[in-house]
Amino acid sequence: MDKICERNQCIGCGLCSNICPKGAIKMIEDKRTGHFVPQIDTQLCVDCSLCQKKCPGLREIESRSQIKTYAAWRKDISKIKGSSSGGVAASLYERAVEEGYYIVGTYLNENFQVKLKITNKKNDIELFKGSKYVQADTGFVYKEALELLQKGEKILFIGTPCQCAAMKVLVEGRYENNVILVELICHGTPSQKTFREYINYISKKKKKDITKIAFRSERGVELSLYSGEKAFWQYKGYEDDYMVAFQTGLIHNETCYQCKYANKDRSSDLTIGDFWKIGEKRVFQHPECKVSVVVASTEKGLAFLQGCEQLILEEREYQEALEGNPNLYSASKKNLKSEMFWNIYADEGVSRAYSKTIGKRLKKIRFKNNVKRTIKKAYSIFK
Ligand SMILES: Cc1cc2nc3c(=O)[nH]c(=O)nc-3n(C[C@H](O)[C@H](O)[C@H](O)COP(=O)(O)OP(=O)(O)OC[C@H]3O[C@@H](n4cnc5c(N)ncnc54)[C@H](O)[C@@H]3O)c2cc1C
Ligand code: SF4
Ligand code: SF4
Ligand code: SF4
Repeated sequence: MDKICERNQCIGCGLCSNICPKGAIKMIEDKRTGHFVPQIDTQLCVDCSLCQKKCPGLREIESRSQIKTYAAWRKDISKIKGSSSGGVAASLYERAVEEGYYIVGTYLNENFQVKLKITNKKNDIELFKGSKYVQADTGFVYKEALELLQKGEKILFIGTPCQCAAMKVLVEGRYENNVILVELICHGTPSQKTFREYINYISKKKKKDITKIAFRSERGVELSLYSGEKAFWQYKGYEDDYMVAFQTGLIHNETCYQCKYANKDRSSDLTIGDFWKIGEKRVFQHPECKVSVVVASTEKGLAFLQGCEQLILEEREYQEALEGNPNLYSASKKNLKSEMFWNIYADEGVSRAYSKTIGKRLKKIRFKNNVKRTIKKAYSIFK
C-alpha cells in the first residue's frame, strides 16, 4: 500500500502509525503546509489494510444529541490559573487520577513541540493546562493506551474531536466502558512547522532566546514569548500574525475546513469549550472568572462530570452555547488568502507569507496599540 486516504481526508491523528503491525508507517511533516501525514515504507508493508480499515479520515462518525449542557468553572477560582477557560479539563483530570485512571493530554516540551502524553501522575496535570493552538504530535499514545487497556486500566482522554475519534476507533467493540472521551470545541489546527518557523523568526528579530510560551493570558487569547521571566513578545489575538492567521482560518489543516466533527450532535462523551456570550440573552450571575461550556452526550460522561467535586455546574440551554460558539456546530471557513499564503510560504518563507497576506494591516494595528500603551505608561508614571 502506498496511500491510506486522500490528503484532504487525513487529520494527522497518527492512529495508522500506532497500529501498523509491521511498523511501516512514520508520521512526517507535509511538504506544503507542515501538517502531520503518514509515510509508508512499501518495503515493510504487507498489504493487510488494517490502517485503511481503522483510518478515522475514511469513516463515518457516530454522534449523539446532547443530554445536558452546563456552564462550568472551578469552585476554587485561584486554581483556574493556567487554564484557558473555567478549568474543567484540569478538574476532570484530577478526579480521574484520584480514581486510578490514566489521563491523556497535550503539553509543550522543552523544544516547544506540542505532544500528547499518557500518564497517571497528578503533577502532569499542570503541563496539560492551557490551549496550545497547534496540531499536536500524537506520537505513540494510542499504542500505549491500548496496552494499558489490555491490562484492565481505565483512561480519560482529552483532545481535539478528531484525536478523540481516533481513540474511539481504537477501542470500539472492546474497551469503550473503560474510556472517557472529552473533546475540545475545535476551531482548527495550524502545523507545528509554521508555528516553529514563526517563533524562530521573532526570536531572531528580537535577538532573544525563548524560554516559555503562552497562547492565552488573563486578558484572553494572546501570544506571549518569554526570555527568562520577562515577556519580550506579547500581542493579542488580533495583533499577532500567527494568532490572526489561526483565528481567521488562514493556515489550518485542509481537513479542518470540512471538519466532520463540528456538528450539533457530538461524537465524544463530553465536549468542552469557552462559554462565549453567556448571559447575553439569558440571565447569568457571572462568577468573576472565565467560564467553560460542557456538553454531555452520554450518561457515562454526564455521571463522571457530575462526580467532579471541584466544579460548579450550572445547567444552561444548549441553544445558548450554540449561539456563542460557531465551531460547536460548523467548521471554520477557509480564508480566501489561504492558497496565496501557502504559495508565498513555499517560495519566500513564513514572515513574507504573513506580510504579503495579513501583515500590512496588522503592522498598523500593532503600531497604534503600541503608541496607546506607551502613552498610558507615561501617564501612569507622571500621575
Ligand atoms: C487547537 C484548539 C482550538 C480550539 N478552538 C476552540 C473554539 O473554537 N471554541 C472554543 O470554545 N474552544 C476552543 N478550544 C478549547 C479552549 O481553548 C479550551 O481548551 C477549552 O475551553 C477548555 O478549557 P479548560 O479551562 O477547561 O481547559 P485547559 O486547562 O485550558 O486545558 C486544555 C485541554 O486542552 C488540551 N489541549 C491543549 N492544546 C491542545 C492541542 N493542541 N491539541 C489537543 N489538545 C490540546 C490539553 O491537553 C487539556 O486537556 C480550542 C483548543 C485548541 C487546542
Ligand atoms: S489514520 Fe489518521 S494519520 Fe493515518 S491516514 Fe488516517 S487520518 Fe491520516
Ligand atoms: S497495509 Fe498493513 S502493513 Fe501496510 S502500512 Fe497498512 S497497516 Fe501497515
Ligand atoms: S477542526 Fe476538526 S479536523 Fe481540524 S483539528 Fe479540529 S477536530 Fe481535527
